[in-house]
Amino acid sequence: MTLVRGGGNVSSMTTTSHHYDLRASVAAASRALAEHGLLIGTAGNVSARRGDVVAVTATGAVLADATVDDVTVVDLSGAVVEGSLAPTSELALHLGVLRAAPPDRVAAVVHTHAPKATALSLVLDELPVVHYQQLTLGGALRVAPFHAFGTPELAAAVGAALDGRLAALMANHGAVALGPDLAGAIENALLVEWLADLYLRAAVVGVPRPLDDAQQQAVIAHATRLGYGTTRRVSA
Ligand SMILES: [Zn+2]
Repeated sequence: MTLVRGGGNVSSMTTTSHHYDLRASVAAASRALAEHGLLIGTAGNVSARRGDVVAVTATGAVLADATVDDVTVVDLSGAVVEGSLAPTSELALHLGVLRAAPPDRVAAVVHTHAPKATALSLVLDELPVVHYQQLTLGGALRVAPFHAFGTPELAAAVGAALDGRLAALMANHGAVALGPDLAGAIENALLVEWLADLYLRAAVVGVPRPLDDAQQQAVIAHATRLGYGTTRRVSA
């Protein structure tokens, strides 16, 4: 899909958008996450990879109102391929994650300052497996140590925290969730916030009791047998 762009800004020098649909899908994902309350104002960022390019929200974009123009396309080294706005200050975090993972497993990244996950990041070093649904994210979620936003140190810390996981928390900062596509990354970001909510509610009345290794293994074995997460027709 291509779009002939008008207007008098610099981007109008490039009259054809080669990545319009990818940028549009990142904008739509940003608006959806804002509607769910996970992205607030300009805080947070979203990216999606296709081949050797990544569409990512621009720094300073109001995510609830994001449009195609608020999404910039870069290559895997971070050089701008398309768009007129500077990409998010967390570009190194997004590119580090997307370069490290096989694209069929991870092709979208959502970073939020969602309130419940961020609240837990002030207290925990790790969110233990509090519900079996958490196993779809890979198990206990690590809390990456604090570094200033947008730094290579933060990108490296988050990358390490994500090892073998589809989500992580970021100390005194927020959360990050990955998926094979934007829909999957949104689903995982919502799951992280739901798990954080669960933990917070439980912690009001006692010390949350995580699932132990044997319980987790039993769930994984059972889910594998049933094909958990896919729909099945009732037997005739
Ligand atoms: Zn942030």
